[in-house]
Amino acid sequence: MSRPGGGWPGSATLLAAVIGSPVRHSLSPAIHNAAFAARGLDWAYLAFEVREDGAPAALAGAEALGIRGLSVTMPLKARIAGLVDHLTPVAAALGAVNTVSFGPEGSTGDNTDGAGLLGALGSEQGWEPAGRRCVVLGAGGAARAVVLALARAGAAAVVVVNRTPERGAAAAALAGAVGRVGGLGEAAGADLVVNATPVGMAGTRGADRVPLDPALLGPGQLVVDLVYHPVRTPLLVAAADAGARVASGLGMLVHQAALAFEGWTGVDAPLDAMRRAVGEEPGS
Ligand code: NAP
Repeated sequence: MSRPGGGWPGSATLLAAVIGSPVRHSLSPAIHNAAFAARGLDWAYLAFEVREDGAPAALAGAEALGIRGLSVTMPLKARIAGLVDHLTPVAAALGAVNTVSFGPEGSTGDNTDGAGLLGALGSEQGWEPAGRRCVVLGAGGAARAVVLALARAGAAAVVVVNRTPERGAAAAALAGAVGRVGGLGEAAGADLVVNATPVGMAGTRGADRVPLDPALLGPGQLVVDLVYHPVRTPLLVAAADAGARVASGLGMLVHQAALAFEGWTGVDAPLDAMRRAVGEEPGS
């Protein structure tokens, strides 16, 4: 399929979109439209503001209109998981969907967040989870996806540190025998520390805070902040100062999108173009 030079989009243009609320700040349209353009695909990607009570109508409407794929963001991930015709094993285990594909068998919900993080760490940091001791801060949707992915990829231990103990225990249970809840101090002995809380996010009350004492961090560790606004969060600055390797949440964002793109189009994702779309230079 080649992308027409003029008169685009046209009557043959295929559509994908992100649904959620709020979505006006979403980077997904920039990432996916850059990917479609880089591969010369006659596809376009839009953002639709959908509140939780609008989820059933949005899913049915997307299918009726022949939209090929949806990205699903807050607050719809759990709601959409209960509405799609099929769930992948990962989405079923998490009870949360971030990607919907439409095909002859109806709608299929997947969750590419955890695989996206591991893809980013593998390709951009050369880091593999097998045998590693991992600490995940937070127990929400993003943390749960990361905990499950790390455990399934062979991590030796996945320790969940969370403000609300019950949610922490539920997230740790996703890791089976290698999962448990713990305290912040365990970051000191970890190979990987992932911040999956919003602490450090620009525009919030915790924007200038770090989610743990940077004295716990040092050389030999990889510290990842899923927060990507700003790209260099207070945690990443402090971790780098302490001698740890650091990775921003943009890698996960790009790689989870790449998996969605490949599922919808059947075409290899143009990762360099997708990274450039979020301001990251390939190989940086
Ligand atoms: P969520 O479901 O709302 O979960 C937030 C988690 O953070 C909860 O465990 C919550 O603890 C904890 N938390 C919230 N405020 C806290 C505070 N002030 N101190 C300590 N813990 C706090 O959110 P989410 O969807 O998992 O997203 C979490 C973060 O990851 C967000 O910043 C989001 O932007 C980012 N994210 C990034 C990507 C990416 O591709 N890079 C993808 C998804 C999410 P309680 O359980 O005690 O409430």
